[in-house]
Amino acid sequence: MFGSSVKRPVWQMLQGLLKSNITRAALLPILMASVFEVQKAYANATTFSAGFAKENINPTIDDPKRPIWIAGFGQKRQAKSIHDPLWARAIALSNGSKKGVIVSLDAIGFMHNDIIDVRNAVQKQLQLDFVIISSTHNHEAPDLIGIWGPSLLKTGVDSRYLALVKERSVQAIRDAVAALEPVQIHRMELPNVCADVLVDTRLPQVFDSNVRALRFVARANRQTLGTLVTWANHPEVLWNANTAITSDFVHYLREGIETGIRYGDNTLKAGLGGTAVFINGAVGGLMTTLDTTPVLDTVLNETLLTPSFEKARAVGYRVAEAVIDGVNAGSETEITDPTFNWSFKSLLLPVDNLKFRAAAMLRVIRRQFEVGFRTRSEVGLLQLGDTWIGTIPGELYPEIANGGIEAPAGNDFKLTAPVEVPHLRSVMRGQMNMLLGLTNDQIGYIIPRSQWDEKEPYTYNDKPYGEENSLGPKTAPLIHRALIDLFSEAQ
Ligand SMILES: [Zn+2]
Repeated sequence: MFGSSVKRPVWQMLQGLLKSNITRAALLPILMASVFEVQKAYANATTFSAGFAKENINPTIDDPKRPIWIAGFGQKRQAKSIHDPLWARAIALSNGSKKGVIVSLDAIGFMHNDIIDVRNAVQKQLQLDFVIISSTHNHEAPDLIGIWGPSLLKTGVDSRYLALVKERSVQAIRDAVAALEPVQIHRMELPNVCADVLVDTRLPQVFDSNVRALRFVARANRQTLGTLVTWANHPEVLWNANTAITSDFVHYLREGIETGIRYGDNTLKAGLGGTAVFINGAVGGLMTTLDTTPVLDTVLNETLLTPSFEKARAVGYRVAEAVIDGVNAGSETEITDPTFNWSFKSLLLPVDNLKFRAAAMLRVIRRQFEVGFRTRSEVGLLQLGDTWIGTIPGELYPEIANGGIEAPAGNDFKLTAPVEVPHLRSVMRGQMNMLLGLTNDQIGYIIPRSQWDEKEPYTYNDKPYGEENSLGPKTAPLIHRALIDLFSEAQ
């Protein structure tokens, strides 16, 4: 799937004129003036449309024969209740001639083969140029990968639930496309939001804590149709003993943006309206609010420590409030650039992780590996006006995105310099550069090769966590290279 640029007709016209018999020198001033006019008219004529839709993806939890296993911590955590709805939320985008969709699922991850199934069900029929599907990495929702079942040898995926997620995703995509209407798009980047609730559990300390948001305003009535918000943190505030299905802080983040910051019957701050869609960023390394991380609820003026819905609310509302305040303070910039390009690159990644190989052979993980233990995945770039949106198929270590990779003593390959350089955002040329994590796949951690560490002596004198949930040490260099190529090739 390769992109098209709306600037192309102007260039074609220019080429046509240059081939004509009139003396080029004489023509040039007239030509330049007319090209400028045409380009201006063309830009004005290009109006983006957007459509939002959401479908509930709650599991059925009252069938004793079919327990629903919650993903994210240990095995055998059975769902007992539903606290708030899980969603498939879709944004359709069009410039009049081309269109695509971005979907966010309240899920731990959604694998590439499942994403292909959803694409196959809608892409041709709705004439979509791209279908991007992301997972929020929710650690309080049903297992869709397989490794959180009743035992190490039994899959945690309920096939009926997986089918429901696919069906509802398809429905959300259809509804979003049917809802397309002309919009203005506003972008906003807020530095270092809620840094105090974020912990990086592994050195070096690098975060991806900026909030980057796109707000879509209906041209017809100036109302907010919806927002796309990215921030990087594991949705696991409820931690490992919770048995109530929830989308964790993401629930409050979205509700806060949509309907306002509300405690009981009091609305303390009005929301923006419309449908909020949250997509996670570079969460590797790993970005989290630990069960021991204090979170200040700024409304109650209380510091919350123990995992609870109140704590998840404090995290979600604080990010929501930052977004609402940013909009109210006029921190947004309208996107006037008509660029609408995309490019996706399929790649084969080696599966060196023996645990993953065994899990696939036992059908615990629902993923078929190709000959030589390799697996197909994907990276991508969407250019929406002057905003670049890169897609990452797993949990990227933020230092690959933002810089700061180290080659500490004790790294397994005895490297003395980082491999994944330059960092991704230094090569992205948008006015705002979003990186969507866990998008179009979930392959686990994407760890810088010079920080890879399974063997003693350990880096930073401490056995790190991450490698056991990664495909292997070749993953990061391959993904980094593929993305750098995509970004460099982009117009
Ligand atoms: Zn994770």
